Amino acid sequence: MGKTTGFLEYTRVDGNTRKESVRIKDFMEFHERLPFEEQKLQAARCMDCGVPFCQAGAMIAGMASGCPLHNPVPEMNDLVYRGRMEDAYRRLSMTHSFPEFTCRVCPALCEAACTCGLHTAPVSTKENEKAVIEYAYEHNLVKELSPENRTGKKVAIIGSGPSGLAAAQLLNRRGHDVTVYERNDRVGGLLRYGIPNMKLDKSVIDRRVSLLEEAGVKFVVNADVGKSISADKITEEHDAIILACGASNPRDINAPGRDAKGIRFAVDFLSEVTKKLLDSDFKKKPYELVKDKDVIIIGGGDTGNDCVGSSIRLGAKSVTQLEMMPKPCEERADSNPWPEWPKVLKVDYGQEEAIYKFGEDPRVYQTTVKEFKKDKKGNLKSVVLVSLKSEKDEKTGRMCMVPVDGSEKEVPAQLVLIAAGFLGSQSYVTDAFGVETDARSNVKTDENKFATSKEKIYTAGDMHRGQSLVVWAISEGRQVAKEVDEALMGYTNLR
Ligand SMILES: Cc1cc2nc3c(=O)[nH]c(=O)nc-3n(C[C@H](O)[C@H](O)[C@H](O)COP(=O)(O)OP(=O)(O)OC[C@H]3O[C@@H](n4cnc5c(N)ncnc54)[C@H](O)[C@@H]3O)c2cc1C
Repeated sequence: MGKTTGFLEYTRVDGNTRKESVRIKDFMEFHERLPFEEQKLQAARCMDCGVPFCQAGAMIAGMASGCPLHNPVPEMNDLVYRGRMEDAYRRLSMTHSFPEFTCRVCPALCEAACTCGLHTAPVSTKENEKAVIEYAYEHNLVKELSPENRTGKKVAIIGSGPSGLAAAQLLNRRGHDVTVYERNDRVGGLLRYGIPNMKLDKSVIDRRVSLLEEAGVKFVVNADVGKSISADKITEEHDAIILACGASNPRDINAPGRDAKGIRFAVDFLSEVTKKLLDSDFKKKPYELVKDKDVIIIGGGDTGNDCVGSSIRLGAKSVTQLEMMPKPCEERADSNPWPEWPKVLKVDYGQEEAIYKFGEDPRVYQTTVKEFKKDKKGNLKSVVLVSLKSEKDEKTGRMCMVPVDGSEKEVPAQLVLIAAGFLGSQSYVTDAFGVETDARSNVKTDENKFATSKEKIYTAGDMHRGQSLVVWAISEGRQVAKEVDEALMGYTNLR
C-alpha cells in the first residue's frame, strides 16, 4: 500500500468531461485524463484492503461484484501511486488483454465493490487503468508477442468482438495459427459497430488490431460464416473453432403499426452512424437519419443512452427515452447493500446532453408504446404511449408491468429506435455448426466450460452468456483460449 493515509487525505477527482455544449457538436471522445501527478494521488486513495472485493468478480444476488478478470486492483493502484507505470502495465497485462477498451466503456464493477465506496467515493480505478494503458502505448511498451515456434494447429474464430479478439491474442501467443472471420467490413464487434465513437474512439481498436496482425493473427472481413463461407469448410480446415458471434438477435416490440417506415433497431442505427462517420473519415455526419425528427427510444438502458447521444449529435428535434420499469432510487436501498452492484439512478452522458439541450431528462419511466401510427405513405408520424403499473400475475404469481387503462397519450414521432435488449444468438450460425442452444438461444456448454455439444467447437462471450459486458467478453475469450489450448496440446501454460 503506497500511502496508508491516502484515503483520508485525498478526495476523489475525476478527469474532465468536455462540456455538453461543445461535445454534442462532434463524435469525438469526451472524457479527458487527469494530469499524471493528480492521477497518482487518486491511486493513493486505494486502501489495499485485506479482502479486496474490487478484484473478486464474484456473483452476489445474481450480479457480478468486482472485476470478472480479477485484475490485481490494489497492486496496480499502488504502482500508479509510486509512479511505477511500466510495472503497473506489466502487472495489469497478466490478467487483462485490452485495458484500453474497459478503461473507456466498463461500468467499473471494481469501483462499485471498492471498500472506500462504503463511506465515501470509491477509488477511481477505471481512470487509473486508463492512465496505465495510455502511458504504456505512449512509451511503446504495448507489444503483441509473436511466437518463435508455431504448433501447426489451426484455430478459426468466428466473430471479432472483444471475446474473439481476446481468444485470438492468447492462442496466437501460444503459437497456434489463428484466423478471425468477421461478417462486417471492419473488425471489433460491438466495440466498433455498437458503442459510439464518442465513448470509444475507433482508432483505439485499430491500434490493437494492427499489433495483433503484426504478431500473426489473420483477419478475414466481409466473411459471413454460415452464409458467404460454409461452416463445413471452416470445420474441415481447422483443428478448433470458437464461435464468438455475440447475441445479435434484437428483442422486438409487437404493437400495431410496427411495419411503419421509421422504426429501427438501435444497433442497426448506431452501426450505420459509425460506418458513415468512418467511411467519410469523420467529414460527413449522417444528419439525414435524424435531423429535425422527434425521436422515441424504447429502452432505458445503456444502448438507449447511446441512441440519445447520437440523435442529439445528428440534430434531433426532440428525444424521449422510454423505460418500462419504475425510476430507480438515488441511493442504495437497504435490500441492495455494498458490495452488490448498486441499482441506483445513473445519469449517463446522453442524458446529460439531453438535459443541456432540451432542459429535461429524456427518460420517461413506467411507459411503453401501445401503437405506432403512420401517414398515407406508410411513414411513422406518431406513437401512442401508455403508462404501466406493477401487478401480480394470477397464473405465475410473479410481479409484472401492465398497462394502466385510460393513460394513453399520442405524441409525434418520425423515428423510433428499439433498444429493448437482445434474445441470444442467431440460428443460422448455430444451425450451420450444429451446436445445441439453451432456452434463451445462447450456445450450450457445461457450467464454466466453453466446449459445445459438437466436437472441437467452442463458444465464448455474449453468444455463450447472453447480452453482457465487454469485460465479461474479454474474460470469456481468455478462458476459452485456455480450454482450446489444453485440448490441442494436452496441457496449457496460458494464464
Ligand atoms: C449499443 C451497445 C452499447 C454497449 N455499450 C457497452 C458499454 O459501454 N460497456 C460494456 O461493457 N458493454 C457494452 N455493451 C455490451 C458489449 O458491447 C458486449 O457485451 C460485447 O461486445 C460482447 O462481445 P462479443 O465478442 O461476445 O460479441 P460482439 O461484440 O457482439 O461481436 C460479435 C461479432 O461477431 C460477428 N459475427 C456474428 N455472426 C457472424 C458470422 N456468422 N460470421 C462472421 N462474423 C459474425 C459480428 O458481426 C460481431 O462483429 C454494449 C452493447 C451495445 C449493443
